[in-house]
Formats: sequence, structure tokens, C-alpha cells
Amino acid sequence: MTEELSVQYEMPKAYEPGKVEAKWYQFWLEKGYFKPEIDPGKKPFVIIMPPPNVTGELHVGHALTATLEDIMTRWHRMKGEPTLWLPGVDHAGIATQVVVEQMLAKEGLDRHKLGKEKTQERIRQWAESRRKIIAQQHQRLGASCDWSRERFTLDEGPSRAVRTAFFRLYNKGLIYQGERIINWCPRCATALSDLEVEHKEIQGHLYYVRYHLAEDDGFITVATTRPETILGDTAVAVNPEDERFKAMLGKKVILPAVNREIPIVADEAVDLSFGTGAVKITPAHDPVDFEVAQRQGLPLVNILNLDATMNENAGPYTGLDRFTCREAILSDLDKDGLLVKVEPYSHSIGHCCRCQVIIEPVASKQWFINTQPLAQAAIKAVLDGRITIIPERFTKVYLNWMENIRDWCISRQLWWGHRIPVWYCHDCGDLTVTIEEAKSCRHCGSANIEQDPDVLDTWFSSALWTHSTLGWPDDTEELGYFYPTTVMETGYDILFFWVARMVMMGLEDTGNIPFRTVYLHGLIRDEKGEKMSKIRGNVLNPIETLEKYGTDALRFALSTGTSPGNDLKLTTSRLEAGRNFANKLWNASRFVVRSIESNRTDLKIQWDLLAVEDRWILSRLNSTLSSVTRLMEDFQFGEAQRQIYEFLWGEFCDWYIEIAKVRLHSIGEGALSPIPVLVYVLETSLRLLHPYMPFVTEELWQNLKKRLPSDWQQVESIMVANYPEADKAAIDPQSERIIESVIEIIHSIRNTRAQYKVESKRWIEAKIYAGELTLDITPYSQAIQTLARVRPITFLDSKREVPASENALVLVLKESEVVISMESMVNLEAERRRLQKEIEQSQAEVVQLEARLKDEAFLTKAPASVIDKERQKLYTLTDKLERLKQQIKF
Ligand SMILES: [Zn+2]
Ligand SMILES: [Zn+2]
Repeated sequence: MTEELSVQYEMPKAYEPGKVEAKWYQFWLEKGYFKPEIDPGKKPFVIIMPPPNVTGELHVGHALTATLEDIMTRWHRMKGEPTLWLPGVDHAGIATQVVVEQMLAKEGLDRHKLGKEKTQERIRQWAESRRKIIAQQHQRLGASCDWSRERFTLDEGPSRAVRTAFFRLYNKGLIYQGERIINWCPRCATALSDLEVEHKEIQGHLYYVRYHLAEDDGFITVATTRPETILGDTAVAVNPEDERFKAMLGKKVILPAVNREIPIVADEAVDLSFGTGAVKITPAHDPVDFEVAQRQGLPLVNILNLDATMNENAGPYTGLDRFTCREAILSDLDKDGLLVKVEPYSHSIGHCCRCQVIIEPVASKQWFINTQPLAQAAIKAVLDGRITIIPERFTKVYLNWMENIRDWCISRQLWWGHRIPVWYCHDCGDLTVTIEEAKSCRHCGSANIEQDPDVLDTWFSSALWTHSTLGWPDDTEELGYFYPTTVMETGYDILFFWVARMVMMGLEDTGNIPFRTVYLHGLIRDEKGEKMSKIRGNVLNPIETLEKYGTDALRFALSTGTSPGNDLKLTTSRLEAGRNFANKLWNASRFVVRSIESNRTDLKIQWDLLAVEDRWILSRLNSTLSSVTRLMEDFQFGEAQRQIYEFLWGEFCDWYIEIAKVRLHSIGEGALSPIPVLVYVLETSLRLLHPYMPFVTEELWQNLKKRLPSDWQQVESIMVANYPEADKAAIDPQSERIIESVIEIIHSIRNTRAQYKVESKRWIEAKIYAGELTLDITPYSQAIQTLARVRPITFLDSKREVPASENALVLVLKESEVVISMESMVNLEAERRRLQKEIEQSQAEVVQLEARLKDEAFLTKAPASVIDKERQKLYTLTDKLERLKQQIKF
């Protein structure tokens, strides 16, 4: 290991991320830096990682999560806090089963052919391989999580937590079994919670169907979007206030197709203005009708098999697929003259969020959590400030959802997940709920019992994640020390699925909040602002991306401009900016390292002898430190990153190092060397940047450290070095004012050179009037000369000396004026000739255009867009001509 880690004497010319990343990750891992020590005297910083689904590989959303969490984790670790970032993986019941079923289909198999046990084994094997890949990918992203505590939702610990939580809620009466309308996915063959249903606006039809009265002549017409559900109707309902139907109340109608008699009932839920005012009631297949049936005591007729084919209650349509049945029944109704009319109708239809098949509302016996009492506690925890949601606007969203919460259907008819810990007795018919495997019926003692075949909603186990990963239900040292956790960082899209349920279950199980702060990040979009998806083909694979640009560049791109709750664009230009930044730092560090080697200066800073630019860069460094710390504390990681970047690139590399080069070049005997300050600022900035770009900073820091005196050698790695703290005493407004003026002078001369296209080799002449700063700026004449390529340079004593000559250009700056000799920039005669030629050309074109725009024939024949274009052209040309005429006046 030490062999490999030895830092080369000569730093390579360019930064090669691929050569250093694995080396440093392995080093950190072996040193055990990711594992916190439990220290009761210190308050820990804890993040539980949102466990990625074991369904696949990491996508950019995971990379964003990992980057933000690693920034926080590394930052707190460097501040000396015992820091735990606990990684994990979610078994993702339905999602994983769907993926493996698709794999089976490719082999010409399906789970029913394969059988439950073999299917489960296939899923298990596949999940295990994914779990390893997910961990490796996190490591490539630089994630400094404690792998010794990695958890999988199906591990024994978290599984026992699931059974315990179920047992306790059941005994409190908060988990119950009941027949309700649930969302049924016919493809996945399972119930879904309301959150797992995606509603899409569909252009469908509204069918008006006539039901004949049973005893009298006459009929009643109802409207429906799903005519096949007629087969499951058990009543027709009208509003009791509706005069149109008063006479029909209590009478019976005959259901078409199956000829069943059903009553006409009055119910206040009926909307007088919908359809004809009379509605069919299908209690087994509609949540509103289910409630009407409960009120009116109507029977339930389920017409669907679990695969959405029609069951034996569908009479002649038994066995047909639901949509084939719809066609058949419409055709029959039409034949019998019962289909009155068909209208186009746009309405919202629920789809399975996993397989996109249209879900069916079905009355079904399932397990539910009575969430209202849990929600009350979860509302209180946010209202009284124990939990803070960032950004603040999501607090309202959270509270609104909690206040309108509905019972949570937690049973799933899947084969992959936590089995429901309920056993049914074949002898007494009672049920037994236990934490450990039941051997006999609790009530009659019979061993003739059978476990509920269903599994729990995956989110049930995720809801326990903050405490189940730390050992709950056992009273472990970890749970006592690390719980409540500090920050829950995740995407705003799973606020209800996950965050809200963790708050409810954390409070219920432990009596304490699961986390103090919820940080919600946005979605990642592509260059055009579109959501990334496989269908659009705009997905960026994080591993391919980091191989191309380097991990630090990817992390840089992901944290650029990131702010809580807002979506983020991940663009090639940002990735390139990240790579360029790493290279810029590499070059700057290489310069510092070589300066140390070739100058052999004492690296102690002589604080009372500092040059103005030294005081300036130290002042800027400390302002940056204090601002970055404030921003990080405020979760503004994007803005903190921007300020670090601006300081390092815009002030340290572009100006301090450039001025230092001039100083080193002309340094005389006994003059103060800039090297100690260069080293100090670079070393401090690397630590400041480390949480964002861990690999390049470690490599550079180690390279630098090798060249520093022995007292620097005690700290083994930048990741366990102290996070820099601002020193207010170093803030020095006067030196900032002076150096900013120097920079402004150089900057403005450079801009002028560019504007007049002065060759880079050419020296130009300038006079500078710097007012009361003259004495302070004069020492920088060498720097100005070198960096702006000005020679000679003259300092003027008074403003009056600034000549009003025609052949000079005066740049008026914030604190100074710069007078540039035109002759020194351009050959005046040649320039005048060039401009004259250009003026003549433009004038000729203007005349031509003006003539055309006066030509009646053109104006009447040409399309308006062409005329418009010509007018625009004339406008631009006239403008250009005006500018040329100004320019030639030198
Ligand atoms: Zn589905
Ligand atoms: Zn029994």
C-alpha cells in the first residue's frame, strides 16, 4: 500500500482522475475513516442514505443524492464530529419482481410456470448481484459511507423490525384487515397504495345506456365510461332532490345483458348535473359506489378475475378480457337499441406506476394502517419545529397531505418482500399475529395454521429505515447514540412515499423524531430542461460520465447551482467546467510545488511583513471561508461551491499566482517571498474544497504535504484534516481596495487590447492616474506591465495631466483612469484606411437597400417576411455605419 501511495517527485503535467481515484478510495477505506467512533461527549452527525432499489444500477438521481450527502458528511467529519453516513439497499418488492419477470419472459418462462420458490430464488440471486454493483458504484462516486453498517431491507435485523412494528400496530388496533376498494394491477397481480397509481388524462368516451323498468314501461338512462362494469351494477342511484326521477324511486330496472333486477335508490352523493342525473352503482369496482352501497345496504358483485378477465358473474361474457368484454357488450347494447348515444369524454385513468397497465378499482380484503392517529403526531413534530423541512415551501405540502391522509393499504400479492406476520387457523378460524414464526393458533392451540400468503408494501419497511438500520427494536448503543438522525436528504418526489411515513413510524416506534432536518433536492434534467428517461433516450449514466470526465467533475457538475427543492440541469458544459476546474487546480498546485522545490524558502509566514497582495489574498480567503461556512450551514451547497470556485479560479489562480510569478521573477536579495502565502492559501483552499471534489484535493494535498516540513506530516489525509475556519482579523478592506484597483487596471487594458485586436506580442503605452491610491499602486507597475503587456507605463500626478488628445483612449475606472496611446495599439494610417473602406462598403449597401425598400414592385410582390428581413438588414447596417464613423474619429 505505502509503495503505491508514494507521491511522485515530479507531478505529471495533467490531472488523470482514473489513475488516482481508486487508490485514494482504498486508502480511506483501509484507514477506517468512514467509520465513526461513538463518543458520548460529542454530538454526532448522522445521515441514513435513501436505499436505492435493488432493481438496477445507479442513475444520475442517485449520483446527486450521493454527492450532496457526501458533501455534508465529509464537511461534518472534518469539523471533528463523529459522523455516520449509513448506506443501504431496498428490496423494492414490486419493482424488483417486475424486472425479474421481464427477464423470465425473455427465457420463455413466467413465475407461475417456475413456481413460487424457484422464482424467489431467481429474484434473490439477482438482487444479491445488484446489491454488490450498487455498493461499488457508490464507492466510485467517492461516497464516504460506513460500509460496515450497510443494510438491506430484507436482512434479519430490518425484517424483525418490520414484524415488530406490525405486531405493535396490530395490537393497538392501528392495523386492521378490511374489505375496501383498492387499486388492483392486473399485470402485477397485486394491490397498490394510492401513491403507486399514476393518473393520466385519457381521451375516452361516455356511453349512455338505457335500463328498462322491470314492472312498467319506461326506462332510465345512465352514463358510464366503463360499460363492462354494467355487469357488476347493484343499483341505479339518483339525487333525492331530483324532480325528474321522484316517481321512479323504489322501482326496479333490468340490467341489460345479464337481466338482473336492481333497485333505483336515492343518494345525496349523486351529482344532478352529471350525465342524465341517474348513475349506475357498481360497488365492487368504484370507491364512491362502494360508499353508496355501504350507506344503502347494497350487495357487492365482483365481476373480475385477478388478471382482469371477466369472472362467472359476467354471464355470457365470462372469460373475456376486460377490454374485449367492453367491445362485446357495446355491440350487444347497440343491437338491442339500448345504447342511446356515445360522447367523446376526457377523463383521468389510474395506471400502475411500475408496469403502466390500467389499474382496476376492486373491492378486496386487504390489510390497512389507520394512519390518522399517526399523522397527528407527525403534523405536530413539524408544527412545533422539532423537524424542519428545507425548502420551507414543502412544509405546507407535507401538512396538507398529512391532514387529508387516507388509510394505507399495506398488503401486496407479491412473492418478493416481507411476509405478513399473520397466521390463520384452519380449525377455529381465528388469526394469530406474532413477531417470530407462529407454531400454533393462539386461541385454540391447533397446529393447523397457515401464514398469510401476502407480503407488505415495500414502503412499510422503508418507513422504519432510520431506526431499523440502527438496531431497533433492540435498545442498541447505536440507536441510543445516532438516533434521532441529523439530516434526511432525498428527492422531493418521495416526500409522501417515504419521508412522511418515516416521520409517522419513527415517532410511533421510538417516541422520537427520526431526523431533525429534511433536505429535499430537485430532479435532474437534461440540457433542454427535459426530465431524463429511458424513453427519451437522454439518460446520462453516472459511471460512464465519471469515466469520461472524472468523479470530481461529475460531482462538481451535480453541485453546480444546486439549491433545495429546485430541479437541476446536468449539461456537458457543466461537466467540462468541472474537468477544467480540476485541471486549473492541478496546474496551480504544480506551480506551487515547483516553486517550493526551486526556491527552498522557509515556509513560515512572516505575518507582520506581508505584502499588500498577500494581505489581499488572505483577506479574500477568510471572507470566502466565513461565507461558505454560513452557506453550508444554510444548506446552500450550490452557492457555497460557486464561491469556492470563484475564489480559487478567479482570485487565487488568475491573480494572486500571476502576481506572485512576477514577484518571484524579479525577487531581490532579502525580499519577501510569496511562497509561504501561496502554500498557505492553497493548502487551506484544498481543505475548503475537499467535500465537493475529494479525489483531486487529496492527490494535490498529498503532493503538497510531501514538500512541507515535518510538523505537517502528522495528519495522514485531507479527509481527516480540520475544516478551515475563518479568521475575522485577516479581513483587510484597504488591501482589497488596492489590489482590486490593480486588477481593474490590468483587466481594462486587456479588454481594450482585445477590442482593438492588438497582437498579443505587441507592447502598448499607457499612463495611469490613480488618485489617492497612486502610492499604493505604483509598486504594481511591474505586474501591470507583465500582465497587460504595457511599456512604458507612466503614473500621473494629477487628473489634469490626462490629455484630451484625439490619439488617446481614456478608460475611466472605479478608482483610477487609464490613458492608452492609440498609436501604440494600431497603425493609425492603416487603421484609418481600413475603416474608410468599411464605411464606403456599408454606405453602398445602405443605398441599395433603401432603393429596394422604396420599390413599389418589390413591396407589392414580396412576402411580408422578406420585406421585414430587408428592413431589419437596413437597420443593422445603419447602426454599424454610425459606429464606424465614431471609430474613425481618432
Ligand atoms: Zn403493474
Ligand atoms: Zn385456532
